[in-house]
Amino acid sequence: MDRPLVGVLALQGGFEAHSRVLRGLGAQVREVRVPGDLEGLDGLVMPGGESTVMSLGIEREGLAEPLRALAGAGTPILGTCAGLIVLDREHLGLMDLVARRNAFGRQVRSFEADLDFAGLEGGPLRAVFIRAPWIDEAGADVALLAEVDGHAVAAQQGNLLAVAFHPELDDDARVHERFLELVRGRGGA
Ligand code: GLN
Repeated sequence: MDRPLVGVLALQGGFEAHSRVLRGLGAQVREVRVPGDLEGLDGLVMPGGESTVMSLGIEREGLAEPLRALAGAGTPILGTCAGLIVLDREHLGLMDLVARRNAFGRQVRSFEADLDFAGLEGGPLRAVFIRAPWIDEAGADVALLAEVDGHAVAAQQGNLLAVAFHPELDDDARVHERFLELVRGRGGA
């Protein structure tokens, strides 16, 4: 799979920056707005934004069941910030975890942190948090990959990868690379 076809959910939020990073890493990108856009995808990114608005858009466009089917078929999905929230038990229910919205403070609270991210080589990962969630609870099948002040901010469950921060907003593409490894790992499977 030289140039995998990766969808970016483009209902709302920061999808364009993800598209740029993915293209830079050699993927083909398709913006996803309706169920037909999911056809033939090798992977999908759910961006940051506003999880309430994104969830409404998913309902409005009839995307919930097709997204569950996509994940059920083993297609890798990367959820970032609001995208992590949408993947949790209380939203699409694709990942066995519960996200706490705006967990780092009630007001707009944005910060950067250097994360030890399990399995990422090359030293700490600089991560941008914007009104980010953290992961309150996670089931036994969920591997927690990074934390801030004792709160989990990255997780993987099978082919689903979720981070509470914005990996598309800096020059470090290692989270997208890790996601594309999942995507490429399925080639021919
Ligand atoms: N606070 C937003 C929410 O709850 C997430 C913020 C983000 O995606 N940067 O949906």
